[in-house]
Amino acid sequence: MKLYPIFASLSQRAVLVVGGGVVAERKVAALLEAQAQVTVNAPTLTPRLRRWARQGRIAHRADPFRENWLERVWLVVAATSDREINALVANLGELRRIFVNVVDDAALSTFHVPAVIDRAPLTIAISSGGEAPMLSRLLRERLEALLDDSLGALARLMARLRPRIRARFPASTARRAFYEGLLAGPVAQLLRQQRHDDAQAAAERALAAAPRSAGGSVVLAGAGPGDPGLLTLRALRALNEADVILHDRLVSAGVLALARRDAERIEVGKRAGGHSTSQEAIHALLLEHARAGRRVVRLKGGDPFVFGRGGEELEFLRAHAIPFEVIPGITAAVACAAFAGVPLTHRDRAQSVRFVTAHCRDSRDTLDWAALAQERQTLAIYMGVNELATLQARLLEHGRAASTPFALIENGSLPNQRVVCGVLGNLVERAVAHAAGSPALLILGEVAALAPSLAWFGAAPLGATVHALPALAARPAGDVLDAVHQAVC
Ligand code: SAH
Repeated sequence: MKLYPIFASLSQRAVLVVGGGVVAERKVAALLEAQAQVTVNAPTLTPRLRRWARQGRIAHRADPFRENWLERVWLVVAATSDREINALVANLGELRRIFVNVVDDAALSTFHVPAVIDRAPLTIAISSGGEAPMLSRLLRERLEALLDDSLGALARLMARLRPRIRARFPASTARRAFYEGLLAGPVAQLLRQQRHDDAQAAAERALAAAPRSAGGSVVLAGAGPGDPGLLTLRALRALNEADVILHDRLVSAGVLALARRDAERIEVGKRAGGHSTSQEAIHALLLEHARAGRRVVRLKGGDPFVFGRGGEELEFLRAHAIPFEVIPGITAAVACAAFAGVPLTHRDRAQSVRFVTAHCRDSRDTLDWAALAQERQTLAIYMGVNELATLQARLLEHGRAASTPFALIENGSLPNQRVVCGVLGNLVERAVAHAAGSPALLILGEVAALAPSLAWFGAAPLGATVHALPALAARPAGDVLDAVHQAVC
């Protein structure tokens, strides 16, 4: 069941709380903060509730619950330990179309009380629809830590200036930029330092200053390999500020879901064969949107400077005097290695690592195969899986041992990740046997022998049967590599 979240304005509105124990007391406290007129119905009250009743902050009714009390209330909270009473209150509320919360009983409740982060007037509420209240609580604690106490003061300052900000920046893009300046700049900082007058003065100055130039800009950002958790905070912020996002096909839906809701998303995926024309079309789009004053995020899978043609796009922007910045991303080699348990370098087995692309004919013909075939180095090969045969043949031709281990990682870091293991000699055979598809990254080198034993994410590696691994753990790293290698082959 999906809930519809609302924030209720209860000031001077009657609310009935049935129950007078500590749970009821907590609910009453929150209701009083919202200035509700609270009546507590219970034979006995906690000392605190009694005090509130004496002080006239709440009304107390000790007699048994009566149906007609529901006539004048907006909301009811049932917080007794008696399930029958709670159910009765819930049913009567239902008949009268009054929202009832039965504490700790999602099924009986017609409204839920969320976990709240209170930065009044800013309120953040979290609900798991009663399914995982502990998760809501844990998330609340995390957000509490992330969100500074001064946010309430910032919200109040924004509220005071709001009419003038609106008048000053009629266009929503410029207005948003101004608010972002308040949030990210000296005003928020001064509030964090409890310097309220200085903050107000700084905000006034910002409002009086010349409006920022309307020119657009481009952020060239890496989206990482797919798992949204691998996005950098900087990229996340850029996505939150974007007016337009031009993204590659490889950028995952999970990453795009983190972007600002009303940002325009344009997929500019390039498929093999159509490279140059679509690259020109991408340039044209970048120019068009930046010149229209928009903040453009050019989002690429992995890292924009690793086989991403990011450099070409920046040269183009420079030539057209469009300002840009670059945010790195976790490139497929680094992510796939981590998610497949293959250390790219290893003291005993690989002192260097090369990122290689074997995507098209050009790269195949210009690669230094003799250098790539040398031992004790790791090759991280970005490629279409149909290039595997050429790769296998050329490396063998140039002397790389047929026994060199590999790990082929498909959809690295994503829920459908698969890892196929083997050795250079059976690379094509294994890839075909397991129908490896794109996107896939090939890690070839002595270190790939570790994949079966260090695998920790997703399904177990295919093509690798490792026996008696726990016993290996106690042995020196070199021995483990040898033993695992033998088990794999
Ligand atoms: N700029 C990107 C690479 C673009 S080239 C980066 O830094 O990662 C596209 C190639 O990257 C794919 O053919 C594949 O070899 C590799 N790749 C990208 N994402 C991948 C993933 N999640 N799993 C495996 N390989 C991936």
